[in-house]
Amino acid sequence: MRTSPRPRYLVGLVGDGISASLTPAMHEVEAAALGLDYEYRVHDLIELGRPPSDIGAILQEARASGYAAMNITHPCKQLVVDLVDVLEPDAERLGAVNLVVFEPDRTVGHNTDWMGFRDGLETGLPGASLRRVVQIGCGGAGAATAYALLAGGTAHLDLHDQDGDRAERLMTRMRTLYPSHEIAAIDLAELPDSIARASGVVHATPMGMSHHPGTAFDLDRLAANAWVADVVYRPLETELLGRATALGHPVLDGGRMAVGQACASLRIITGVAPDRDRMERHFRALIRAEGRPDAGGSAE
Ligand code: NAD
Repeated sequence: MRTSPRPRYLVGLVGDGISASLTPAMHEVEAAALGLDYEYRVHDLIELGRPPSDIGAILQEARASGYAAMNITHPCKQLVVDLVDVLEPDAERLGAVNLVVFEPDRTVGHNTDWMGFRDGLETGLPGASLRRVVQIGCGGAGAATAYALLAGGTAHLDLHDQDGDRAERLMTRMRTLYPSHEIAAIDLAELPDSIARASGVVHATPMGMSHHPGTAFDLDRLAANAWVADVVYRPLETELLGRATALGHPVLDGGRMAVGQACASLRIITGVAPDRDRMERHFRALIRAEGRPDAGGSAE
């Protein structure tokens, strides 16, 4: 990695367990294709031996070192909300920041995770009915997908999580933001009927990764034309999506959300519009090149 002279855009990613992240390669290759002088560095808190509570100091150090921006991932997305000068409205509504841009006289917190899922739905499942959706998993990724669904026109959203408190908390937050929408937290017993009535299901738990095999719900209850979206992208074809495809359901893999958030971040940082399709082709080649279907890696 180049250390001097400093590139025009120096950008970082900070979070836990991110050494295998594909985000640096996605940003750098697309930025080079756009003719930008751009470098992206990873700051893994575990490797640095620093606690998440150091995030404020890390942002100050980055700013002082000439960074243009920092992407933020687990477990710092909520911590950063109170550390920036200005929150972009969607980040404020979501209560989570995954991009901090160092402007000359202020720091601005953005959230591009929800944009990634929204763009994924638009490009990967064009025309899909968002009318009534069930979402399984209400953690970090689930907050972004729920927000994107409601912003995209979902009128009825059922939220399920094995941790009922998480589903309740996300329901409460989303009801505040979308008071005229029907938003419910449902338990395991209610899930099959909810799935049977849904026009689509979003899966936002880690199930389907190699260390979490299986599926989080029973596909037999899916309505005939229901679509299925997964946020997991290592592997891109999860057991869930493989079985849904075999049953004839339209599917959306987690790769589009991952590319979409990176594409939006790059655009916000540089003001230049990336080529989303080129980024996606590159991302899928990177996943294939990992040589094994699930190389573990980061959740961001
Ligand atoms: P998280 O730990 O914040 O949330 C996961 C949630 O799933 C938790 O609330 C947990 O209680 C719940 N859960 C786990 N197993 C469950 C089950 N069987 N049934 C119901 N609920 C269950 O994790 P996260 O950051 O939201 O990440 C989740 C997955 O999303 C990971 O695989 C991660 O790699 C992926 N992810 C993808 C993207 C993307 O851009 N595609 C972005 C972020 C995360």
